[in-house]
Amino acid sequence: MLKRITKLILAGTLLAAAAGCSAGGNESEKVEVVATYSIIYDLVKNVGGDKVEVHSLAPIGSNPHEYDPLPEDVLKTTDADAVFYNGLNLEEGNSWFDKLMKTADKDGKDAPVYRVSEGVDAIHLESKGLEKQYDPHAWLNIENGIKYVENIRDALMKEDPENKEYYKKNAEKYIGELKALHDKTIAELSKIPKEKRVLTTSEGAFKYFGEAYNMETAYVWEINSDNQGSPQQIKSLVDFLKERNVPALFVETSVDARSMETVSKETGIPIKGKVFTDSLGKRGKDGDTYKKMMEWNTETIIEGLK
Ligand SMILES: [Zn+2]
Repeated sequence: MLKRITKLILAGTLLAAAAGCSAGGNESEKVEVVATYSIIYDLVKNVGGDKVEVHSLAPIGSNPHEYDPLPEDVLKTTDADAVFYNGLNLEEGNSWFDKLMKTADKDGKDAPVYRVSEGVDAIHLESKGLEKQYDPHAWLNIENGIKYVENIRDALMKEDPENKEYYKKNAEKYIGELKALHDKTIAELSKIPKEKRVLTTSEGAFKYFGEAYNMETAYVWEINSDNQGSPQQIKSLVDFLKERNVPALFVETSVDARSMETVSKETGIPIKGKVFTDSLGKRGKDGDTYKKMMEWNTETIIEGLK
């Protein structure tokens, strides 16, 4: 009870502070948005354009499965007009997100907190003991990325109805580009001979991708809450690869490459490049938008497996 009262007082103080700012006329008119990681950040930017100010919690290059919010993140989340998260066992898997929502007083039923993966056909994990949990990496199928964009569009239209038409138009244009990219990805990856179409990465992040683009996937560990492969996991991947004629291995930009280096040494199969899974590339570098990271992945996979 006491906690609740403190929270209310805190919320009241913040509201008063915000009101004070607007009265001063210096407060930006933009919709303040918090996204849990860089990929959602980019999708929101594409729909929200210059009407939104977006802050990504897990920074570029980091692992959004596990994140320690900074004081700045708590402030921005408290002030946010909308919060976007992936769900499906990504941020809430390790509950850093739930804790942050509570601290930022965004855990109420009517809080403007949106799960962007709403409506996606979710895939379950397959490791023993994890079968009831979802695999979060739905965005690696561009068709799901389009669903994310639709959810973001609807949320922004709800939170900022004055600019409804603007969000609608931006989303329409962007969805058109993503549809074209999805079709192109199918066409390009289908050129890899069927028996070589095996995508091997550290984390098993490519299940949605594999289903959408007709690729078999293999991995050291299934989900990044694990972080490093156990000797057993490494051995089981090495055994699989020795049976098959897989020409290349890949490492992700946001994970530790050491396990895959061990696999490469044990099998003699080279690591043929980096792919983006849980994070965009650094601004101005390769893969610094969702579209570019998906294009990069396709090119890297083709180059490595052909
Ligand atoms: Zn991941």
